[in-house]
Amino acid sequence: MKLSERIADVEARIAAACARSGRSREDVGIVAVTKYVSTDTAAAAAQHGLRHMGENRWPDAKEKVESLKEGVEWHFIGRLQSRKVAQVIHHFSYIHSLDRMSLAEEIEKRASAIEQPMRCFIQVNVSGEETKAGVTSEELPAFAEKLNELSYIRVLGLMTMAPYVEDPEETRPVFSRLRELMDKLNAERRYREPLQHLSMGMSNDFEVAIEEGATWVRLGSVLVGNDNE
Ligand SMILES: *Cc1c(COP(=O)(O)O)cnc(C)c1O
Repeated sequence: MKLSERIADVEARIAAACARSGRSREDVGIVAVTKYVSTDTAAAAAQHGLRHMGENRWPDAKEKVESLKEGVEWHFIGRLQSRKVAQVIHHFSYIHSLDRMSLAEEIEKRASAIEQPMRCFIQVNVSGEETKAGVTSEELPAFAEKLNELSYIRVLGLMTMAPYVEDPEETRPVFSRLRELMDKLNAERRYREPLQHLSMGMSNDFEVAIEEGATWVRLGSVLVGNDNE
């Protein structure tokens, strides 16, 4: 499929999921995940109007983020090593994978040095799979509270990755649980401002995630393709 067709197809599916769940299309943002494609394809995606791009590893992202700056905001979505923060901080506007205090402190240090707050999502391991990153649901409230001390970190909301399953319907409880966790943090005023964003849903399960309240979906293969396929 051509890039323009993929984008149109995904757009129609997002609009349908919004309509089914009574949500407004403007409330769902797309992070185009470019990790499986070349810099040229990423540039073409930007030409097609995709303005938010995501990468999950700094070494692979470097060339793309350095060559694609104009009108593009980059989202760091993968496991982030503290020693990579110094580079990542200059090129990315959002970090979706805040999952531990040592990382938060490193981001705080680097962001305060350049006087630019970093927008972050707390990654939650809702499903409890051992291989998945993220704080557990039990750790989340205390973690969110501790982040109040870091003024250059601005938490926008929560992020999760659902287990990969054949039938995306099975991921629904993971997404609805993330939403409940955010509502509870807000009701208990754990964080200094209300959290308003849920980063959830990938190629395989984004429609279910939208029905459950996703405000950012992170789409790689379904949207921009995969050069390895
Ligand atoms: C790769 C990746 C995605 C996108 O994956 P697709 O299944 O290709 O849509 C989304 N989120 C994270 C954290 C990823 O690493």
